[in-house]
Amino acid sequence: MEKENAFYAKLEQKGVSRRNFMRYCTFLTATMGLSSSFVPKVAEVFAAPKQRPPVIWLHFAECTGCSEAFLRSEYPHVDDLILDILSVEYHETIMAAAGHQAEEQLKSAVKQHKGKFICIVEGAISTKDNGVYGMVGGRTFLEIAKEVCPQAAAVISIGTCSAYGGVQAAKPNPGGYKSVSEALGIKTLNIPGCPPNPVNLIGTVVNYLLLGKLPALDDLGRPSFAYGKSIHDQCPRRSHFENDAFVTEFGSEEAALGYCLYKMGCRGPDTFNNCPTAKFNAGTSWPVEAGHPCIGCSQPNFWDEMTPFYKEQ
Ligand code: SF4
Ligand code: SF4
Repeated sequence: MEKENAFYAKLEQKGVSRRNFMRYCTFLTATMGLSSSFVPKVAEVFAAPKQRPPVIWLHFAECTGCSEAFLRSEYPHVDDLILDILSVEYHETIMAAAGHQAEEQLKSAVKQHKGKFICIVEGAISTKDNGVYGMVGGRTFLEIAKEVCPQAAAVISIGTCSAYGGVQAAKPNPGGYKSVSEALGIKTLNIPGCPPNPVNLIGTVVNYLLLGKLPALDDLGRPSFAYGKSIHDQCPRRSHFENDAFVTEFGSEEAALGYCLYKMGCRGPDTFNNCPTAKFNAGTSWPVEAGHPCIGCSQPNFWDEMTPFYKEQ
């Protein structure tokens, strides 16, 4: 109880009321596909965590957009995530250590938490010519991944680059870039997107802390709670050509269909993600709502298979 009171006092100091926090927990619980009876338990994961799993976050070939999206998640604030829920032992973007000190930190974190840490990987791995086209601290991405990932309790590939190769693996792929799973021949939990919605990573971690296991995955290794439906099936623009009232309002079926972005190259029918319900920037909007067609960023090989963008396929 003392722990919980201290948590809520800290929230108040940050300008987050208990009501807003519970609203967030309700949203997160629904996003995770759990019934509303789990809301108090989800709140407890944040307010009185029983364990803080160690996390080692590796950066390979990427733009750091996934870290950016995660660090900018409105709630939980990143310092709460880092200090209260997870024990982040290594993350090159936010850690104070640099150079040899950082390399030492990685080695000692892996040794200390062997078999217990969650390894989150951002970025694809070069495999051609022994992976020489991607290096950190004088070692190839491949070498680092081969050493660290097998020692983790679970490996989460965050973003389309680590989940499926991303832009690095687009044709002609001169560096032989591959996803973490393909490069190492291991199973990973994939949270694709360019960038992925932070709520899907938070939902995955909360699922792990709450139920003691990772969420159910689809055949592409993605949590089903987030990637179980197509963008098109959840899109509010769809109602405009499927709903008689809208057709009447727009004057004709053709005019109502014009509100849909399919003819502008929208890949919503072939893309699976929860953007229409989870939205971005604290639930403000999402690309199709803002008038931009979905480009299929959470699907494998989207740079090769969904292009040219802005053209109907
Ligand atoms: S805008 Fe895209 S996702 Fe929405 S209804 Fe049209 S094709 Fe489907
Ligand atoms: S709407 Fe499509 S392209 Fe945009 S973030 Fe969602 S899955 Fe990616």
